Amino acid sequence: MIIFTLPNGEERTGYLMHESDSAADLLREFIRIDTTNPPGNEEDAVRFLDECLDKEGIPTEVFQVAPKRANLLARITGKSKGKPIILLSHIDVVPAKADEWEVPPFSGEVRDGFIYGRGAIDMKSQAICQLLAFARLQKDGVKPERDIIYLATCDEEVGGQYGVEYMLKNVDELRSASFVLSEGGCIIDEGGCLHAQVSVAEKKLSQFTIRAKGTGGHGSMPHSDSANEKVLRAANAIISHQWPFKQTSIVSTYLNGILKNEKGKGFVFNNLKQALKNKQFRSFVSDNPVYNALLRNTVTPTILEGGEKVNVIPAESSISFDARLLPTQSHDHFFKKIEKLAGKDVKVVPIGTGKSDPLTSGYNTQYFKGIKKAVTNLIGPIPVLPFLTTGATDLRYFRNLGIPAYGFFPITLTNEELFRMHGKNERISIVALKQGLIGTYEILKFLATVK
Ligand SMILES: [Zn+2]
Repeated sequence: MIIFTLPNGEERTGYLMHESDSAADLLREFIRIDTTNPPGNEEDAVRFLDECLDKEGIPTEVFQVAPKRANLLARITGKSKGKPIILLSHIDVVPAKADEWEVPPFSGEVRDGFIYGRGAIDMKSQAICQLLAFARLQKDGVKPERDIIYLATCDEEVGGQYGVEYMLKNVDELRSASFVLSEGGCIIDEGGCLHAQVSVAEKKLSQFTIRAKGTGGHGSMPHSDSANEKVLRAANAIISHQWPFKQTSIVSTYLNGILKNEKGKGFVFNNLKQALKNKQFRSFVSDNPVYNALLRNTVTPTILEGGEKVNVIPAESSISFDARLLPTQSHDHFFKKIEKLAGKDVKVVPIGTGKSDPLTSGYNTQYFKGIKKAVTNLIGPIPVLPFLTTGATDLRYFRNLGIPAYGFFPITLTNEELFRMHGKNERISIVALKQGLIGTYEILKFLATVK
């Protein structure tokens, strides 16, 4: 059993006892409500959260935005009006292929102290911890300086149109929020060494498809006008390209914080700027999917569409790519480079608007300091560092309005656990979940004091 120790030495075994016990049961029930998006169907999940808040005597508003799609807003009224603080979560999840999992992905089954299920990490656990911490704050009779809003939205996994985008259009006060806390960072356990990632920015989404047309025909008589060969040649040029490593101040601060004095094959890390000049360090970074994604644009093929029959040369073919750009990379320059690499035989077609240009939140703020203090209270003096989320989250909507928005959930995970997110056998340990609840409550107590 893990015992968290308060700075004054008081053991936390009795702390948030009631909520700790509820957290696991609520999360399991929440996972069982299948909110796979598409199509989403988040309404039942919203009703579930609504009932939980209702039991705590907290008034809520449900926003029905489309059939079976809904968002939930609850509030603890603060001393002064306007500029609320928002605890944000999304209730939809990405699809899960049941036959690839050890347990049915929507069962919420517990094995060896872990709750399994789609959304266990991303982000039904955080939605439950935010809800319980929020309810506890109300029960403790804390009157926050500002309104604190609990906002659970649909549709994050496919872009947020019905969720955060809808809420920002229709609820004026959300656009004047003073701070938003949601997903994107956690406490990482690397071989027993812990550090906290507080996400203050994310990479830019820049997906695209390359398409080629050619002459169809019989596979027994190949010719030079093959659509498949054209896209394959173009794709090969795109995936072979080595995007340069680039420092951003967030990633420099982050890696300087966690790699100090790290010794690897052929390098001793002193600082990022120096280290990137070392060939062996660059190859160490290339081999680490996290560091690699933090330091360069990434482009990876995800959907291949060509022929349907093994003896038929198709007349059309395409490959789609997921690309994530560093915050400093412009979309236009990136697409020009992709077009150049792809060559004249294919057409490069952006997917979606391709215009997401999320802003970065500062990290020299009272919010960052408050979270750092909460983490120290929770587990002791570990490095608490700004982080760049490699995926996209709904926080970009708030950052684009100039609202400081951080992604952080104080659970401790190894990178192995983290990679299960969006993958198979996603799970969270009950110990981590309890820590997430206590940590969220510590952060919330601080947020309640922000004027
Ligand atoms: Zn998520």
